[in-house]
Amino acid sequence: MEPEPVFTERFTDARLGADLLWRDVRIERFPAPAPALFLDRDGVIVEEKLYLSNPDDTELLPGVDELIRAAHELGMAVVEITNQAGIAHGYFGWPEFVRVEKRLANVLSERGVGADAVFACPFHPQGRPLYRHENHPWRKPNHGMILEAARLMNLALDGSVLIGDKVSDLEAGRAAGLLLGVHVLTGHGREHEAASRALASARFPVTVVASAREAVRLLPGYASRHV
Ligand SMILES: [Mg+2]
Repeated sequence: MEPEPVFTERFTDARLGADLLWRDVRIERFPAPAPALFLDRDGVIVEEKLYLSNPDDTELLPGVDELIRAAHELGMAVVEITNQAGIAHGYFGWPEFVRVEKRLANVLSERGVGADAVFACPFHPQGRPLYRHENHPWRKPNHGMILEAARLMNLALDGSVLIGDKVSDLEAGRAAGLLLGVHVLTGHGREHEAASRALASARFPVTVVASAREAVRLLPGYASRHV
């Protein structure tokens, strides 16, 4: 029998696991469960650019720095969770992802803020062999990235909020049992608004806001429900 071809990823980085999943946790594990603000990246933190891979195309959306600051003031961890199917499709690789993330971290740092962790899923059902997966548990709408963040960082998911521009973001938040989903109208937000609204339930309310800036005012009401 012919041996199965072996595909490997040549890029190495301590944050890239042998399972080809990205885990960049920048803070110590919380001693007691802490609430988190989960943020999708493309279309929520930065302008949607269709497979963003050039750091020069990284444009912070208005109000994101205020949002991160507000979450931190409320004792929430800030966690970016991003599907990066561009890697599965071969449009770019981990080095480009790293350069974009570095630029983003620098831009945020100039404003005195930053994410506490970044999780990324490169898998896609139609990806090239190494990154092809029918239904990866980390790929949103699945909630694997949220569960992994909770496990590594000690997060209280029932006190946590997610902000996304696609219904798949909100579905992941609902599956994880988060307290609130916020749908922003930046990125793909307008096309996905109706579908995200349709997900709302008593257990998982969904609030629609224009942008990250408008989400700032929602946080205090929810953060205070935890504790
Ligand atoms: Mg998005």
